[in-house]
Amino acid sequence: MNTKTIHIKSFGCQMNKLDSSLVTAALAERGFLLTGKATEADAVLINTCSVREHAEDRVLSHLGHLRHLKKTRPQLVVAVIGCMAQRMGEKLLAHEAVDVVAGPGQLHEVPELIDNALADHQKRMHVLDNIRQPAASETIRDISERLDAFELAYDSDANHIKSQAFIRAMRGCNNFCTYCIVPYVRGPEVSRAPQAIIEQAGKLVGQGIRQITLLGQTINAYRYTAGDRTYTLADLLEQVSAIDGVRWVRFITSHPGQFDTSILQVMADLPKVCPYLHIPAQSGSDRVLKAMNRGYFAARYVDLIDQARATVPDLAVAGDFIVGFPGETNADFEATEAMIRRVRYKNCFVFKYSPRPGTHADKRLADDVPAEVKQARNARLLEVISEIAETDNRAFLGKTLEVLVEGPSKKPHLNKAENQDNPQLIGRTSSDYIVVFNGPETLAGKFANVRITKTAALTLFGELT
Ligand code: SF4
Repeated sequence: MNTKTIHIKSFGCQMNKLDSSLVTAALAERGFLLTGKATEADAVLINTCSVREHAEDRVLSHLGHLRHLKKTRPQLVVAVIGCMAQRMGEKLLAHEAVDVVAGPGQLHEVPELIDNALADHQKRMHVLDNIRQPAASETIRDISERLDAFELAYDSDANHIKSQAFIRAMRGCNNFCTYCIVPYVRGPEVSRAPQAIIEQAGKLVGQGIRQITLLGQTINAYRYTAGDRTYTLADLLEQVSAIDGVRWVRFITSHPGQFDTSILQVMADLPKVCPYLHIPAQSGSDRVLKAMNRGYFAARYVDLIDQARATVPDLAVAGDFIVGFPGETNADFEATEAMIRRVRYKNCFVFKYSPRPGTHADKRLADDVPAEVKQARNARLLEVISEIAETDNRAFLGKTLEVLVEGPSKKPHLNKAENQDNPQLIGRTSSDYIVVFNGPETLAGKFANVRITKTAALTLFGELT
């Protein structure tokens, strides 16, 4: 059995973190031992993200460090996987530090590729050609079943059994938003069979998992046809929440176009389905939405949120926005600010537009909003979002909320004056609010009730009841 050590570094979204965990599980099965230090590893695996230029720059800078490390440890094998590997292929392989390149469609091959590179120190690359062809969909479906079925009731960061797990319901995306690289590097939408997801959820629950998050780039597009029946996300939520032992079920991320309102009904009817929607609008201007190819109008988006709030009690809504998209005028930006004020998000991520090579926007639209304007718009939106959240969160004062305790707070200084003997813990409500309170560490992974005594824009503070 292989007893080589591997160091893993992961960049990017929740989908990437899940890929890293799945590959980690596959590597462990092949006998690799994890190490926290690249300087002690036989192999280093970097899971990359291509969504923003900044994420790619960080990977390239990391590869620069590894090139230095390889000068003193020439036997070190460096593998680069994920979206950037698919996008850059040969260029990455040509990097002095890199031995293995594998795209998101080849994750199941990674342990073998690394093993072989450790044996012969030859460079090798496996990425899918024509990732959007039907044949690639079949390959991706196959991987889904070989890799996604790994059981992950294990937190590789914390080295302990955890109480929440992510299960991939689908891979890829068919939307082709003009700024986005995902459809080109992760390929077409491929949904997993519901029975595979239910079986996996059942096994995880048997290992102590209480919260399951179903993942998909556009999770509301989940469709799986078996015989004469097509299963949707609403069906999947119903089936997962019917599993004994599951307490909370979540799903991310939703696309506002063609959002089937049966999902809202399931959220309203089934208490285990968490009242939380992460549903990025990206812009409040119809002109910009059209240029982004988002497939909906701003008014339609707002109507959908109104309908969601009317259907699902205590729904929390989170979003994403891009500022400085090509051609974005002051009036466009003001429409975005107005949308944020109208929707009143729980929280939002705001990104400054940066062109991604290979996308429609990069090829056809001039990146014409000056950097300082992007920066000012970014700061303005963050200010508005924070002001709204700070005001709205005051409604929680004095209320008792149930949280799933994640563990010790990583920022204990936030509430230092109220520190007691017990450490500060962090938990999340079913609607994804972060709650910080003092309590015994043994509560990690359990549910607890916390009375809210103080609120801020991003965090609620309270006492165990
Ligand atoms: S919906 Fe748009 S932004 Fe989201 S992954 Fe697909 S193409 Fe990218």
